[in-house]
Amino acid sequence: MHDRDGLIWHNGEVVPWREAQVHVLTHTLHYGMGVFEGVRAYATSRGPAIFRLRDHTQRLFNSAHILGMRIPYDRETIDEAQCIAVRENGLSSAYIRPMCFYGSEGMGLRADNLRVHCIVAAWDWGSYLGEENMTNGIRVRVSSFTRHHVNATMCRAKANGNYMNSMMALQEAIRDGYDEALLLDAEGYVTEGSGENVFLVRDGVLYTPELTSALDGITRRTIMTLADQIGLQVVTKRITRDEVYIADEAFFTGTAAEVTPIRSVDGREIGAGMRGPVTERLQSMYFDVVQGNSEAHADWLTYL
Ligand code: PMP
Repeated sequence: MHDRDGLIWHNGEVVPWREAQVHVLTHTLHYGMGVFEGVRAYATSRGPAIFRLRDHTQRLFNSAHILGMRIPYDRETIDEAQCIAVRENGLSSAYIRPMCFYGSEGMGLRADNLRVHCIVAAWDWGSYLGEENMTNGIRVRVSSFTRHHVNATMCRAKANGNYMNSMMALQEAIRDGYDEALLLDAEGYVTEGSGENVFLVRDGVLYTPELTSALDGITRRTIMTLADQIGLQVVTKRITRDEVYIADEAFFTGTAAEVTPIRSVDGREIGAGMRGPVTERLQSMYFDVVQGNSEAHADWLTYL
């Protein structure tokens, strides 16, 4: 990723991609204490537009607040930095990665002279789980790794260190021939994928786990709003693994994953073993909204 043309927003300056570097004693590299976002800009008929920019920036600031980290910029500057990253790289659509981390001013857990550094990078990134899987669905396995307990890490924060657990689960799933992992909490209830929230459809009702050990996903919120719009009841509750097996439909949501149907879990087909009608409807509504083809929710798009 480091050896390419382009520009990165780094502490208020726009620097050449290859020069956006840090020292090996960067504190966050050692202990994982940092916060980040994953945001997308979509190509629309009026040029590129960032989807729910302010909500992502708000979550970044919330994540930092939870970790006790003070971002040395205001929200407007971080919003603008994301616009700059897309614009300066001449992208028509993009994945945008803001991150705030501690620098190399000190080492050790007790370091008290650390500065918070901020970057925003943007690049072209297509379908996260594969274009074909957006229609066919993916094969998922329940992970042998437990999702974070709320008192072990802070699940409302999109924190760098939290992703070690995601990577362990994902590597295990891929090694075993699956596309993605589904993680359970310490009591055995369904939480989320390695980088996605999960939804089930059963008897015409949409179900999603409570936000205890799962991230408060912005795509999750979007899908809940869209479901409401078409009169689809959404129930937030504790969900067991066997409830997933007998769902009529299941899908993952995330900025990167967008709305990805789940074809099977632990080798058991979900419903007809392909994208179901409710998933297809919500997926198509989602793409209409993010691409600016829908009248509703125009305020979710920031045109560049
Ligand atoms: N859960 C986890 C662990 C994630 O990393 C993500 C991606 N940010 C999500 C859920 C989905 O969140 P969002 O819809 O805001 O991208």
